[in-house]
Amino acid sequence: MAALYAPRYYAAFQCKADRCSHSCCVGWEIDIDEEALALYRSLPGAIGKEIREAIDETDAPHFRLGADERCPLLDGRGLCRIISTVGEGYLCDICREHPRFYNTVGGRLEGGLGASCEEAARLILEEGDYATLLPLGTPDSVCAPCGFDATPLRTRLFTCLSDQAQPLEWRLAAIEQALSLPAPLTVEACRPLFAGLEYLDERHKALFLSCTTPPIPQGEQDALYERFFAYLVYRHASGAEDERGFCCAARMARLLSDLFLALQGQHGLLPVEAAVMISEEIEYSEENTQALLLACAQGMPPLHRM
Ligand code: SF4
Repeated sequence: MAALYAPRYYAAFQCKADRCSHSCCVGWEIDIDEEALALYRSLPGAIGKEIREAIDETDAPHFRLGADERCPLLDGRGLCRIISTVGEGYLCDICREHPRFYNTVGGRLEGGLGASCEEAARLILEEGDYATLLPLGTPDSVCAPCGFDATPLRTRLFTCLSDQAQPLEWRLAAIEQALSLPAPLTVEACRPLFAGLEYLDERHKALFLSCTTPPIPQGEQDALYERFFAYLVYRHASGAEDERGFCCAARMARLLSDLFLALQGQHGLLPVEAAVMISEEIEYSEENTQALLLACAQGMPPLHRM
């Protein structure tokens, strides 16, 4: 099997566990894959019983959240009882893989970290070299093969984006020109769209609806914007099925980067907080991501060619 390729920060990721202020073990219903379910059904002892009692099988099997929205297998210190009693080998796929994601790009598997995790967001926003991918050995998750190879488009986009000799505004305009993108969608024009999305937290919806497109940043904010934009392109455009799909995702990356900046400047969020909020509300909802991509497709030529 081919090697997994990933950005530099990928291998540095380590879950903060009980030090995490925004744990993914709180507020999310975790679906359990069949292999893990079979393991849990036959696991002996008190922990096996505890796990089975925590599973809800009425619909897709998942861990039933407690009254405080916490995973019932979290102990008082915020540590996972599956890991502390029988080890990581007993985690279901989602718990083991989170916050990692995978894309098949031109026949090779690429991995990344999702920014809904605060530690992943920190690594993403600290890494200036977002364009270099390193081979990381054999992957244990494989995506379906994809005929379109987005690598040349992505390289071209990252070359424009990382041209530190030019101001960010110039680099973003160069990307739009290189990809023949329509004018960027403004945050305020997308309010009806944001209003119709599903939210984990309605307070986030209120924040999104009160943001406006900020001026293109300079100085330190410039680098954070650039890295978040690069992350969104890496995550959403790399696995595109054709050029048009790549361009829609690049346009969405611009919109969400503007929102990222607005949440900081207009609502006082820290960069990591803004990245986590956008990621958990948009990226971790297939419906929301598709709604944004659809909006970004408007105005795009049907047979988009560079
Ligand atoms: S959000 Fe990230 S750091 Fe926090 S518990 Fe989940 S994987 Fe660990």
